[in-house]
Amino acid sequence: MKKAVYYGPKDVRVEKVEEPEPQAGQAKVKVKYCGLCGSDLHEYLHGPFPISPFGHEVCGEIVELGPEVEGFQVGDRVNAFQKDGYAEYMVAPQERLLKLPDSVSWERAAMLEPLAGAAYAIERGGVKSDDTVLIAGAGPVGLLVLLGVKLLGVETVYITDISESRRRIAKELGASAVFNPAELKIPPKMKELTGGQGVDVAIEAVGIEATLKDCLASTRYRGTVIIQGIFTEKVPVHMLGFVTREMTMIGTNSINSALALDWIENKGIEPEKIVTSIIPLDQISANGFEALAADKEKNIKILIEP
Ligand SMILES: [Zn+2]
Repeated sequence: MKKAVYYGPKDVRVEKVEEPEPQAGQAKVKVKYCGLCGSDLHEYLHGPFPISPFGHEVCGEIVELGPEVEGFQVGDRVNAFQKDGYAEYMVAPQERLLKLPDSVSWERAAMLEPLAGAAYAIERGGVKSDDTVLIAGAGPVGLLVLLGVKLLGVETVYITDISESRRRIAKELGASAVFNPAELKIPPKMKELTGGQGVDVAIEAVGIEATLKDCLASTRYRGTVIIQGIFTEKVPVHMLGFVTREMTMIGTNSINSALALDWIENKGIEPEKIVTSIIPLDQISANGFEALAADKEKNIKILIEP
């Protein structure tokens, strides 16, 4: 079978390898889609990324069961929160599988893992329906948080991004207003829009200094800043405002797949709307990683179809 093998930065090769055999407690999955995650892009560009395994946003169909697997059958449609999903087949331990209802399309199913990250962040951050929310960054993380807070009933959600097309999609997905931080200072704008108070909750969805500072400076007295962006560099931050405004800062890096599945199955959330292309495995470097790194206007979420 074909598999994308990671050799190092900018060196991912699609090779012919043996199909994996399911061991005790494992299922073999024929991969339908594997979503290209920001953590995988980081690994492709800069080197191994310890937090998230390479190729983990997988959906597909069980084709074989190892011994001692309970509750799953050959033919089940599943999500697999497991590495090595950039391949025609993968094996995953049963505790990392989630059975999908037939009603859920493969495209929507492929978005379950990143959506589950957004669900977790919103829950951990304690976002309430009457909060005014700022999301800094309209990449996959920010846009999925936007869908989640809208579903929660939040009426006022502002979102920022330097990319025009990402701002446009944010607007289409229900953002109250979108702003370009390259053209406008975000904190005074947020104060202006909230009667001088600042937003109740700001969500950092990029992982860089500018968006973190915007979040900290845009949030009200005793407000909350949720950090979901992956920071790969140190950022100098002045903490005086944080202290004097008695703010709360929350880091978030897990998933709530049960909540995301409920959103997908019962609440009609449409995370597949941020998918900008579906490409074959052979093109994973050129039209996957390289395209995503080079053109953030055109590409938001890319799915690999092995
Ligand atoms: Zn991911």
